[in-house]
Amino acid sequence: MSTIFTQIVEGEIPARIVYEDETTVAFLDANPLAPGHTLVIPKDEYERLNDVPGDVATDLYATIHRLVPAVEESVDADASTVAFNNGEAAGQEVPHVHCHIVPRFEGDGGGPIHGVAGEAPDLADDELDGIADDIESRI
Ligand code: 5GP
Repeated sequence: MSTIFTQIVEGEIPARIVYEDETTVAFLDANPLAPGHTLVIPKDEYERLNDVPGDVATDLYATIHRLVPAVEESVDADASTVAFNNGEAAGQEVPHVHCHIVPRFEGDGGGPIHGVAGEAPDLADDELDGIADDIESRI
């Protein structure tokens, strides 16, 4: 069963597509958090960011890079929040990688991305050193 976003790519369900190239598509979110809320996806179905091959990731970033100023300017936004919900525990509902571009406005009542992870942990220096070493060793 293909994702709802693959159905958009295939033209099986309608969407307000604002950009398309060989590997990526951008379209308006059906339930916008702000005017201009846009999703950017790889055409092929990958569930999480780490499933996306490097060349497709490069194309995806290039499309995001092109879209952010176009989206902001189209709705006269002051800024934008650009983010991926990467996995179900992070709030990802559609299992097809997608970048949210959410236009932001002075005084819009929203917050920064720092609020997304619940209460901030109190980590000691040795714990932070251990985490940094662990991440470094996996790259
Ligand atoms: P997620 O929670 O997976 O990061 O976000 C999924 C997003 O896809 C939501 O913001 C939701 O409004 C949007 N969405 C879900 N179904 C459709 C659809 O059929 N068409 C469009 N354009 N957006 C959709």
